[in-house]
Amino acid sequence: MSAYRLLSFGFAMLTFALGLGAEPTPAKRAAAARQIRATPEEPSITFNSVHVDGPYIAMTFDDGPSATLTPKLLDLLATHHIKATFFVIGENVAEHPEIVARAAREGHEIANHSWSHPNFGKMSDESVRRQLQQTDDAIKSATGKRPTLLRPPYGSITAREKRWIHDEFGYDIILWDVDPYDWKRPGPAVVRARILKETRPGSIVLSHDIHPGTIEAMPSTFDELEAKGFKFVTVSELIRMAAARPSHSSPQPDGNVPPSEIGSPSPTPSPASSPGG
Ligand SMILES: [Zn+2]
Repeated sequence: MSAYRLLSFGFAMLTFALGLGAEPTPAKRAAAARQIRATPEEPSITFNSVHVDGPYIAMTFDDGPSATLTPKLLDLLATHHIKATFFVIGENVAEHPEIVARAAREGHEIANHSWSHPNFGKMSDESVRRQLQQTDDAIKSATGKRPTLLRPPYGSITAREKRWIHDEFGYDIILWDVDPYDWKRPGPAVVRARILKETRPGSIVLSHDIHPGTIEAMPSTFDELEAKGFKFVTVSELIRMAAARPSHSSPQPDGNVPPSEIGSPSPTPSPASSPGG
């Protein structure tokens, strides 16, 4: 009796072990795949940088257009065959629609950076909505196209705002992973050095086309980035290139990337101390 039980126990263990080592049947694999598809990850709507398979980066210029500096920058971008992304202020677009029209015509991306650069983190939904809509309309009127990206002034935005803005306007929220702090006007050499030190494949580089030192820094910055093998695309192009792996965004509830993951300071949504963005 006990010998029989021992034997059947041994047989059961053997069957179990064989089952463990066995390759999953095609049916099992299909079931597993269905399970993965049934619980897809929430698509990212916030980007500090993008995981790409290649040396692609996006240069972004905020707070313009400037009547004098933006045309200079456009000339330089054309010489280098670089496509950039401009996060424009609606008020400035209304003042210089022809500059924004030129930028769009020359292949640059035009994106929303609010009407008058307020702090979204401290505003009513209705005020934020007005800021976005007015700017969206001004860009449409200047370029014939509505923007698809938003960079909140100072990088300041709540998780709830990101969600409803994405739902209502269809915008992705674009922050950055390279910040030369050019708004502090540290001089062209420092702006260039900071950008060169921090930029890596998939980077979104923040700067401002309203500071003379930033524009002065760009010729040699572009030269050196090119020498390192970087290729320049717009932010929307960079997002479309996102490799299968989850992009560098949204692992946290607020969608920001932990600094350890991107190796450079995350934007601080604290306008008092940091007018970046
Ligand atoms: Zn700004």
